Amino acid sequence: GIGAVPARPHPRVLSIAGSDPSGGAGIQADLKSIAAHGGYGMAAITALTAQNTLGVSAVHVPPVEFLRQQLDAISSDIDIDAVKIGMLGDAAVIDEVRSWLEEVRPAVVVLDPVMVATSGDRLLHETAEASLRSLLPLADLITPNLPELAMLLGEPEAPDWATALDQGKRLAAECGTTVLLKGGHLAGNDCPDALVNTSGLLRQDVIEVPGTRVDTRNSHGTGCSLSSALATVQARTDDWEASLREVKPWLLQALATADGLKVGKGSGPVHH
Ligand code: PLP
Repeated sequence: GIGAVPARPHPRVLSIAGSDPSGGAGIQADLKSIAAHGGYGMAAITALTAQNTLGVSAVHVPPVEFLRQQLDAISSDIDIDAVKIGMLGDAAVIDEVRSWLEEVRPAVVVLDPVMVATSGDRLLHETAEASLRSLLPLADLITPNLPELAMLLGEPEAPDWATALDQGKRLAAECGTTVLLKGGHLAGNDCPDALVNTSGLLRQDVIEVPGTRVDTRNSHGTGCSLSSALATVQARTDDWEASLREVKPWLLQALATADGLKVGKGSGPVHH
């Protein structure tokens, strides 16, 4: 007889994000992370940055018509199992991505609301923050760090984990999406993460996964790598909790082995 149909072995995962030519963050990190999780990686570039481990020296946003041509070239030919959205640059780019998403409606959409790099350089124009907020409901999972979470709510950054959980619940309710709260910006040795969704989609409203801080300054691209790994694994598991429990140990290992890479003089990349 006919056996069980195997799950698709290589999810087709599209990163819509900015380029980091030094390879640590952005689409370069996304493609390495997608490959590390067994996905087939694709990338539509929203913005080109000139940067290295010391910071961003220039940003070029190509015409949005060209972004649309990239997106249409992919979706007119290839079935996309999951999308990761990273650096968007400005409001016109956000509008173009929104219009494409509404047309294509990929099954899994993970949005990393990138605004400012760890180096302090802006990756989203200040005037585009309201546009970014309006894009959140189109995502299945949003992955803000604590400063981004605060900015999306228009509130001060959470000083502790309890406040972060409260902010995460309100953002999840407001957007109707699942929020992954990342504890990496907390003071101290604990680095918990939590999935938050108050509409009954998860096993419980808050699913916390504990973690201990990895002591390294080489954490460039951590957020990019995490969001694209989650998009890839989610295409396979269809279960955010299972996806987070699979990806988090990988990310901690990527941080724990980052110092061995010897890339650059500043904040070097994680070992994707
Ligand atoms: N460059 C690009 C293109 C990015 O998308 C990001 C983060 O999303 C960064 C740089 C910043 O990376 P980090 O803050 O991890 O150094």
